[in-house]
Amino acid sequence: MNVLVINCGSSSLKYQLIDADREEVLAKGLCERIGIDGGMHTYQPKGSDKIKTSVDMPSHTEAVKLVLDALTDSKTGVIGSLSEIGAVGHRIVHGGEKFSKSVVIDDEVIKAIEECNDLAPLHNPANLIGVNSCAELMPGVPMVAVFDTAFHQTMPKKAYLYGIPYEYYRKYKVRRYGFHGTSHEYVANRTAQFLGRDIKDMKIIVCHLGNGASISAVQFGKCVDTSMGLTPLEGLIMGTRSGDVDPAILEFISQKEDLSFKEMLNILNKKSGVLGLSDGVSSDFRDLGEAADSGNEQAQIALETYAYHVAKYIGSYVAAMNGVDAITFTAGVGENNISARAMIASYLTYLGTEIDDEKNKTRGEEIIISKDGSKVPLLVIPTDEEMSIAKATIALVGRA
Ligand code: ADP
Repeated sequence: MNVLVINCGSSSLKYQLIDADREEVLAKGLCERIGIDGGMHTYQPKGSDKIKTSVDMPSHTEAVKLVLDALTDSKTGVIGSLSEIGAVGHRIVHGGEKFSKSVVIDDEVIKAIEECNDLAPLHNPANLIGVNSCAELMPGVPMVAVFDTAFHQTMPKKAYLYGIPYEYYRKYKVRRYGFHGTSHEYVANRTAQFLGRDIKDMKIIVCHLGNGASISAVQFGKCVDTSMGLTPLEGLIMGTRSGDVDPAILEFISQKEDLSFKEMLNILNKKSGVLGLSDGVSSDFRDLGEAADSGNEQAQIALETYAYHVAKYIGSYVAAMNGVDAITFTAGVGENNISARAMIASYLTYLGTEIDDEKNKTRGEEIIISKDGSKVPLLVIPTDEEMSIAKATIALVGRA
């Protein structure tokens, strides 16, 4: 069965059409600047170059229509008609405490997702617009919601509560939720499979290091802690997000610089992380690596601070699980950035883990990068969120 996987943002829409039986991506693409002038559709059928078209998309429904037209185009399309799309899998960012697994979308589910809107005001309403647009253009095609937060719902109270008055949890559900759940779940499971072990006997730390970054402790197949919180701002230093800071910094800087709370949050979300630390060199780890190699001290400081924070989180999750059997890197930086991995690994020798510099030279493939005989293996497992969403969708709607 072919599954259309949709990741709908406020002004963008990423998609992949996946033959879920063969686990093959038939086509993928991206609609940008939806609702804004200067729209752009990038479409890439399997085995072909990207096709970029400048086209204004006043609404998400028009963007979805464009996607469906591209997929069924007589020349560059990959399916004959829309009837070849058996189901749609939607990435939904926040499922609050309501969703601990993927679900088939119906009116009640839509209502429940809407009720989580205030926990993710930028993401959930946009995700729902995608759901509604698909429902309009593909009536009768079953749709599944796959939540970024669901995998983390197994965290115990001691891991998800903040040290603030309990009434804020009771009244507003202020707690740690965690994100990138689809990735953490997939990568933890692949780690166990790759090592030929049963995940139910393992303590695994997954480091999802992309533009956004989070880390999770997966004990016996269940998430017991993760670094992102109520929102994706908490935890590791990221491309442009600060990760953990002393919350009093907000007031301190806002007074000094005469900034509003909203402006401060914008700084923490968009101007911080390695971008801010490097004094504006870049949020992209490739640029930072190049700058550091050519002597840019600030880029070097950003990379060192980043790696140090990842290592500290790993240490705290070793403590949380009272041990660890494998540590896995994934996502853009985790899969590709040789020097970031080496820097992080340099803090892990106390675990009896040593990185193998030769094996670490790989990019984007499943591999153990620690030396043979390391007590705790270090791995790289490329994540595949879209494929995971397609599989979760098929699991719920069946293979027609
Ligand atoms: P997102 O959170 O947007 O999905 P990704 O997982 O795609 O992010 O990660 C993007 C990051 O991965 C960028 O900082 C990029 O520099 C880094 N990256 C991708 N490829 C490489 C590479 N070959 N070498 C070093 N860094 C890389």
